[in-house]
Amino acid sequence: MGDVQHEQGDSPYESIAKIDTSKKEVVLGHEIGSGAQCLKCGDACTGLELHFWRRICKICKCSPEDHAVVVQEQETVRKVGRLFDSTKYKKYAIERMTIEHTEMMAKPEEVQTANASPSKHVTFEWIPQGATENMAKRYMEMIPIENQPVEGTEGAQHRAKQMQRQLPDHDQQPELCQQLNTEEAERMLDFVKDYKEKAVGIGQVQPVVPDANPQLQMQNLSLEESAAPAPGHPGAPDVVPGTEHQPGKASVGVGGDAQALQAAETPKAGADETKWKCCRCAKGMTGGDVAVFAERAGNDKCWHPGCFRCRTCNELLVDLIYFYKDEDIFCGRHYADLLKPRCAACDELIFSEKYTLAEELSWHIDHFCCWNCDTVLGGRRYVARESHPYCLPCYDKLFAKYCGTCNEKIEADSKRLNHENNFWHADAVCFKCSSCAVSLVGRSFLPKDRNIFCSVQCKRKYYNQ
Ligand SMILES: [Zn+2]
Ligand SMILES: [Zn+2]
Ligand SMILES: [Zn+2]
Ligand SMILES: [Zn+2]
Ligand SMILES: [Zn+2]
Ligand SMILES: [Zn+2]
Ligand SMILES: [Zn+2]
Ligand SMILES: [Zn+2]
Repeated sequence: MGDVQHEQGDSPYESIAKIDTSKKEVVLGHEIGSGAQCLKCGDACTGLELHFWRRICKICKCSPEDHAVVVQEQETVRKVGRLFDSTKYKKYAIERMTIEHTEMMAKPEEVQTANASPSKHVTFEWIPQGATENMAKRYMEMIPIENQPVEGTEGAQHRAKQMQRQLPDHDQQPELCQQLNTEEAERMLDFVKDYKEKAVGIGQVQPVVPDANPQLQMQNLSLEESAAPAPGHPGAPDVVPGTEHQPGKASVGVGGDAQALQAAETPKAGADETKWKCCRCAKGMTGGDVAVFAERAGNDKCWHPGCFRCRTCNELLVDLIYFYKDEDIFCGRHYADLLKPRCAACDELIFSEKYTLAEELSWHIDHFCCWNCDTVLGGRRYVARESHPYCLPCYDKLFAKYCGTCNEKIEADSKRLNHENNFWHADAVCFKCSSCAVSLVGRSFLPKDRNIFCSVQCKRKYYNQ
């Protein structure tokens, strides 16, 4: 017996407020990345061209980060710097590292030239802040190869994409938002100030020391107790003076006792079991391995490098930048999504009191528009397809279906039934047994070719005549 899927094209929508036409113009930075090739669509997209208010490509409708936009390292430093401008990370810098390639590391495709021998080295475009070369190397070996930011590999591209995806500039800078009036811009500034104070942090990579007291391992990494940066390293993270109980910093060479250093660098047999458990996978940590610590979460919490992921999107947190809420870690985008609605059309957070809720998504009132022609749909009927709303004429033009019985077009706002690739008007006239003409609406049926039957008898009769 065939299954029938009821598809309802009829979802009337009520406008909930008048459209505010007093918006000021905002520059979206349309020239940035303009013409970049789409990594998803290839030749089907002639190059990134930003829609005038949606944050997507006009040509292929993919997001800008799906295009091969080259983001200058300085841009990333500025972005992250803004995020941490009132914290101890204000001297944020990106450190690179070139080391000998190991089997557990991604390697760029060799460019074969006549007299150049293939390189045995790889360059990481980013390493954890404050990590020694050895810690950074172990950290990289513990995250999936496709996430390793090795220059010239997909991992580096993935990092650039996640930098845009997880930390949208328009979640930080009201001046990049097109929808804010003065009052809403102030609300947004408060929101930004609040998450800087309460939520955002950078994970610290530290070796797990089997016998260390969890309460003490991280004590000197708190925001309040941070010391001045080491002289001569303006871009370096704060270096914390060592104490007896600070084995993690021993390998940095700024304190820590010799015993702890030994514990961190060369775990003895039997020292594998520690009291440390990963907050994401709940498995135990192995002594001597590196783990990620997040001071907002407390000194007694840590994660495997490959487990330091956003709870919502499950992506590794780009450059270890986390937002802490409800005893868990999130990327910037999904932290904001816990607190504010986000417009499904322009991707901005919504700070106005009135907005549209439709298809389980939020929309600025004047951004609830046809995905194809941008006609505002407030107060009009529309059809949703893959979470995108369409006006009825566009829906018909793009997706019109024809009835298998009467061969007439099934209007977007009329009910239809479908089985596999066949469609019918959902009424007794069209959805009926091909043999005896009894209505099959709401009943089980037997499909064959483009026909449907009420019973095996009718099916036999039809084909054996
Ligand atoms: Zn595309
Ligand atoms: Zn495109
Ligand atoms: Zn884990
Ligand atoms: Zn996320
Ligand atoms: Zn919007
Ligand atoms: Zn339309
Ligand atoms: Zn029909
Ligand atoms: Zn029949």
